[in-house]
Amino acid sequence: MSRRDMGRAAAIRPLRDVPGWDDEADVVVVGLGAAGACGALAARSVDADVLALERASGGGGTSAMSTGQIYLGGGTPIQEKCGFEDSPEEMYKYLMASCGPGEDEPKIRLFCDDCVEHFHWLVAQGVPFKETFYGDGSYTPTDDCLSYSGSELAWPYRDIAMPAPRGHTVQQESIEAGGMLMRRLLEAVERSGTRIQVDTLCETLVVDEERRVVGVVAKVEGVVRHYRARGGVVLAAGGFINNREMVDRYAPLLRKCKMRLACDGDDGRGIRMGMGAGAEAMRMETASIVLPFTVPKGLIRGVMVNRQGQRFINEDAYQTVVGEAALHAQGGQVYLILDDAIFERPFPPTEIAAVGETFEELERELGAPEGSLQQTLELYNRHAERGEDPVFHKDSPYVVPLVTPPFAALDYTTDTAIWAVFTMGGLRTTTEGEALTPDGEVITGLYAAGRTTSGLAAQGYSSGLSLADGTFFGRRAGRAAAARARDQERGR
Ligand SMILES: Cc1cc2nc3c(=O)[nH]c(=O)nc-3n(C[C@H](O)[C@H](O)[C@H](O)COP(=O)(O)OP(=O)(O)OC[C@H]3O[C@@H](n4cnc5c(N)ncnc54)[C@H](O)[C@@H]3O)c2cc1C
Repeated sequence: MSRRDMGRAAAIRPLRDVPGWDDEADVVVVGLGAAGACGALAARSVDADVLALERASGGGGTSAMSTGQIYLGGGTPIQEKCGFEDSPEEMYKYLMASCGPGEDEPKIRLFCDDCVEHFHWLVAQGVPFKETFYGDGSYTPTDDCLSYSGSELAWPYRDIAMPAPRGHTVQQESIEAGGMLMRRLLEAVERSGTRIQVDTLCETLVVDEERRVVGVVAKVEGVVRHYRARGGVVLAAGGFINNREMVDRYAPLLRKCKMRLACDGDDGRGIRMGMGAGAEAMRMETASIVLPFTVPKGLIRGVMVNRQGQRFINEDAYQTVVGEAALHAQGGQVYLILDDAIFERPFPPTEIAAVGETFEELERELGAPEGSLQQTLELYNRHAERGEDPVFHKDSPYVVPLVTPPFAALDYTTDTAIWAVFTMGGLRTTTEGEALTPDGEVITGLYAAGRTTSGLAAQGYSSGLSLADGTFFGRRAGRAAAARARDQERGR
């Protein structure tokens, strides 16, 4: 296959060309990360025969590499225990405002309404959460659970919906929380009686004369195998950040970001298989774009400017929201201005682009147009003296005048800083995980979940939404495929 073909829809295999089935099941799940595991568990819970095919030598995927934060709310027991009020309605208002325009309203509605149930379901599978709040930022380096993981406290969202922390990190110290999440989910999958086959690279969907998806073609140790799916195939094979041709075609700006948050499997194969069977891929430019400038939290008191020395956003918006704005509208050419009083070494570290005893000196060393940065900082300081930011409405605890020299510009350009990304675009699906054509027709027998699908957020990613929609809609896809298998058996 040529490199250019790697960006295209995968070919399908007509049913008439299948020499015979090597195995069959009610539901065939492709990929055993968080979405696939939840799909398998849901299908098994209604007694479907489930076969999970995983290309790696074990399940886990990117989900196991993650920091295990899941966006959950609407009044979870942990929110209540930690003294935070929340409701499905407030959560809905926040997600509708932050994930759009272009957000998936039906999915957001359902997710908010059933989120507390989903929390209990995860706990029932063995996923542990500690009943504690971590107040020092989104990412929890401890084994604490709850944190603000989006822009809930920032303008304009704090005026649209009652803020509540909704990032629920699985209980495990440090960066191992995703590993713990997947350990527990995979143990549950094994207990459930799902048949798991690893080292199996799925490549193509089998489609019958009526364009229904009836199976999968895979390679096992170089040998081609055919797997029949009586109810449906659930594509849960991750995203496409590791497919250079797809990124060039659909989301070229992401190429500027140094760190890809992904496992080897994130090569877009699942999306391309779905496209081959006629499914639409949508919002393919959408991504979680982490511009990591908020650790330690005091750095939010800095002033983020572009190459022209101008502000473009409130710095207390969530780091992915700032990242999106900085990449899409500023080409990733941004700097964080600090004075000596608020200077702290950032984590992860980045370089200092310029230092000056005055704003003028800093501006000159940074190469910003004459007067531009000086004007920005003078205006900022004038209002900051009263703790106000009438231009971008940064919240008052983070608004302090920058008056103590020397002044520094931290280099957050994509050339220097470690921007981290994963894709959020993918196959268009219903709330039940059914794949849709560009005309909005359901492709019978084809389901998808997780990063193989277009997520809840069309933009404005809040941390934890990927694992949230993958686990939540993965369950629904598995259940729907199992229901179809039952209907088929009854001859409907
Ligand atoms: C360091 C890091 C931190 C992160 N932190 C968070 C966080 O805290 N919260 C959050 O929500 N998100 C986080 N993310 C992103 C999140 O982990 C992923 O977006 C999410 O796990 C995707 O889940 P998934 O089930 O769709 O895919 P995956 O977990 O990647 O599972 C897909 C599986 O499919 C397999 N597969 C792929 N292709 C095939 C094929 N052709 N045939 C068979 N099998 C195949 C893969 O090997 C893989 O096992 C983080 C990511 C990283 C790397």
